[in-house]
Amino acid sequence: MAMSPEDEKVFRDEVQAFLTQELTADLRKAGYETTGTYSAIEACRLWHHRLYIKGWIAPAWPKEHGGTGWTPWQRMVFEQACAKANAPILFAGGLRSIGPLLIEKGTPEQKEWYLPAILSGDDLWCQGFSEPNAGSDLAALHIAARSDGDDFILNGSKLWTTGAHLANRMFCLVRTAKGERPQQGISFLLLDMDTPGLTVEPIAMLTGEHEFNQVRFDEVRVPKKNLVGNENEGWAVAKSLMRHARASNTTSSHLHRAFAALKRLCAEMQMQPEPGLMASFHALQIELDAFDGLELRTRHAASGPHNEAEEKAAASLLKVVATELHQKITQVGMALAGPYAMVEHVEGSNQALMAKEGGLATAKYLGLRAATIYSGTSEIHRNLLMSHLEKGGSLLSSLSKGL
Ligand SMILES: Cc1cc2nc3c(=O)[nH]c(=O)nc-3n(C[C@H](O)[C@H](O)[C@H](O)COP(=O)(O)OP(=O)(O)OC[C@H]3O[C@@H](n4cnc5c(N)ncnc54)[C@H](O)[C@@H]3O)c2cc1C
Repeated sequence: MAMSPEDEKVFRDEVQAFLTQELTADLRKAGYETTGTYSAIEACRLWHHRLYIKGWIAPAWPKEHGGTGWTPWQRMVFEQACAKANAPILFAGGLRSIGPLLIEKGTPEQKEWYLPAILSGDDLWCQGFSEPNAGSDLAALHIAARSDGDDFILNGSKLWTTGAHLANRMFCLVRTAKGERPQQGISFLLLDMDTPGLTVEPIAMLTGEHEFNQVRFDEVRVPKKNLVGNENEGWAVAKSLMRHARASNTTSSHLHRAFAALKRLCAEMQMQPEPGLMASFHALQIELDAFDGLELRTRHAASGPHNEAEEKAAASLLKVVATELHQKITQVGMALAGPYAMVEHVEGSNQALMAKEGGLATAKYLGLRAATIYSGTSEIHRNLLMSHLEKGGSLLSSLSKGL
């Protein structure tokens, strides 16, 4: 049911009051300075805790499992207010992916054991899907899970695992059998990161930061009760997980956050940008407005009467357009920083600030190169988009022109 204008105002005011009170300057700074997929982990933990205490940590979850019971509009208002205020970007694989999946498909024991610690932030989860030679072609994964009584024994490795060095739990896909098709014989498993035989090796990002890892498994024993869904039927479980992750994606708020940072950069740089650059800056503003419209129309089209093809086409369309626009924003940011994009440290008050902002613009540009790779590359999403449109995503076909 739609809210009355009075109730809308009450809600917006409540969100603002909370942010004013709890989102302290150091948390806003951590949010602003984020260059990767999540903010500095201490800021993430603190912000997670404050949202948890308030009861606002999992707006997209059903109320009976700890959600807020908000409408989609309220969730959007909340997300946009957080982004506008530079709230830290949470390390949220638990909240966005595995939590909703367990609510849908977990056993009662799994729900009881795992969900409270996801909400409180005591458990952090990483996603072990990709492997060497199994990224876009995920079904080619071959990490072996051998049956041994009540356990599986895992050997092999996972690659590009974001936050494996921070997480205490992992959800992963393993091969429990060989099927006729590669999607058969895959199982979905939960495990503890401190299990003997499991090692985490850091991989440096383009920015030089440490965000993802290679995780090696050497005779790692995992109880079979940690299966989600049936043995050998993990592919369908993984598809459900992707659906949940897509549903909780906050596409436009990330872009507005990035554009606000660009405006701030423009103000901090005490140089006169070239007219061509300013034209790019204004063109981005127009593209951002157009994206807001696209997102609204796309979500509207995808929320039609159970049209799965529309829903999947919408997810691919928005992923491609949003990440490519986000990259353009960081590219203009680096150009605006000019020579300061290339220096790390300069003495003198004004110049030191400009060097700091310039260095940050460069780090954001480099960090964003990954956005068109993770969660499915742009090429893969373009392929998917066309295939879903052919299957019946007709409402979206006009919106996808030019991609
Ligand atoms: C920052 C970052 C964080 C990540 N975090 C995680 C994580 O936490 N957990 C996890 O499991 N994975 C994670 N990944 C891995 C990510 O999912 C994969 O990188 C991605 O799926 C691409 O796989 P790949 O790297 O093996 O590239 P490939 O699949 O080898 O692709 C190489 C190139 O070929 C293109 N290509 C491949 N197949 C096709 C095709 N059929 N048609 C057209 N073009 C094609 C791709 O678009 C790409 O340009 C992360 C990646 C990054 C960059």
